[in-house]
Amino acid sequence: MAFGKLATFAQQVVSRRQLPVATALLIAAGVQILWAGPAHAHSGHGEPVVNAAAFDGLVADDALCGPGGFRIEGVGLCTHGPDNAPHGRDITQPVAPALATAAQALAQRMVCDGDGASGKRVQVLYARPEGRPDRYAEFADSIRIWAADADAIFAASAHETGGHRRVRFVTTPAPEGGCTIDVLNVALPEDAANSFQLTVMAMRALGYTSPDRKYLIFMDANLFCGIASVTNDNRPGPINRSNHVTGYARVDSGCWDGISVAHELTHTFGGIQHTAPNATGGWHCVDGRDVMCYSDAPYYPTLQSVCTDLRSMALLDCNNDDYFHTNPPAGSYLATHWNVADSVFLIADEEAQAALPYLTLTTEAGHVYYFTDDEVAFTIQMPTKTSASAAAEAAMLVQHIELVMDDKVVSTLTDGQFTATWQAEAAGSYTFTARAYDQRGASVLLAPLTIEVIANQAAPLDGKAFGAQFVAMLPLVMR
Ligand SMILES: [Zn+2]
Repeated sequence: MAFGKLATFAQQVVSRRQLPVATALLIAAGVQILWAGPAHAHSGHGEPVVNAAAFDGLVADDALCGPGGFRIEGVGLCTHGPDNAPHGRDITQPVAPALATAAQALAQRMVCDGDGASGKRVQVLYARPEGRPDRYAEFADSIRIWAADADAIFAASAHETGGHRRVRFVTTPAPEGGCTIDVLNVALPEDAANSFQLTVMAMRALGYTSPDRKYLIFMDANLFCGIASVTNDNRPGPINRSNHVTGYARVDSGCWDGISVAHELTHTFGGIQHTAPNATGGWHCVDGRDVMCYSDAPYYPTLQSVCTDLRSMALLDCNNDDYFHTNPPAGSYLATHWNVADSVFLIADEEAQAALPYLTLTTEAGHVYYFTDDEVAFTIQMPTKTSASAAAEAAMLVQHIELVMDDKVVSTLTDGQFTATWQAEAAGSYTFTARAYDQRGASVLLAPLTIEVIANQAAPLDGKAFGAQFVAMLPLVMR
């Protein structure tokens, strides 16, 4: 829940065909926003929860819920209480719908896993208190995009440790093929948004009680930023209670974005246990700017600057030592305690996926606007999170990479540097992607990169030639 502005903005500028790697662009865009827009140059949490009613029906219960945990009265589940809003975020200001484009429609297409309904899954719902206008039609696609953004955060975070994870949503077949996230439209009693307890009670009264579901509720209300049920159980493996209890994650309309959704889902998946090395004791972390870290009740610990790079703000688990690692080292905390990457609500699908680190297709100059006759130099960015040697190691895992335009391979990159050039000729919009192969021949598709080629004579000095979208991208490309 670092800065929710990020996801919404990125959706305006990122053309996406595949989700996991899209987060790189999303993060890249976020970085630019932070530097370019002083109005949003804030990060982390800290805005106090102003509405005391947010705690109604929550009872401190150390025995059931661990220190600092609350029992949701009448339900028997635990929660860590309302999450603080990020700095600079006003929870009373509902967000606008995510911009709908053809690319985003594609982005809503998810992994089809089984029949889309059986087994352990996240069920997404739009919920409103009775009497409030029904905005389902206006927001259903946006909700799919925000849920998909959260999924991309899990996928990108798994790539950080060389693995693959996707959120297993309840899905329905998409008309154009693939699957789309199922979003239910639920009217709750008039008071159901007035506290988390009332929300959960109302959901249960309507039959949303399955231990095979984590209910991800986009609540059309403004009581707080988000809140979720948690499970006080640090045991590793399938027996962990977070795999077996009904979960409820609620995100209110001032915080509808991918990072907030990933934050609350992570709580329902069992993060962050109090015994984790960098736990706050309030279900968050102190070691960085990741999706879960902030100084919280009851101890308000001082945050440490372990992960300071901005991209960490849209990834899980700074250094992958507290709650998320797809392959934790033997004897480490996550090998011996609960690891959210092991949640049965995630699709692991390791066999079908290439064992590759997180790769990003970009241009060497970092630009996406070129003139006709320019030579465009592409490069594949390796992970540089830890060190240059880590990047070199990552490169060694890649057997080769195909640069693809319009479903045709335009270049095969095998030189260890993974660079290629392309001659811009006619003006227009060109979407490239890349497929990276590991040593076994398994592959991953990287997020697409769209290059705009502008006729040499027609430089759009005021940006009007490309309309609002060009203007919106200016901070991203005019570095
Ligand atoms: Zn939280």
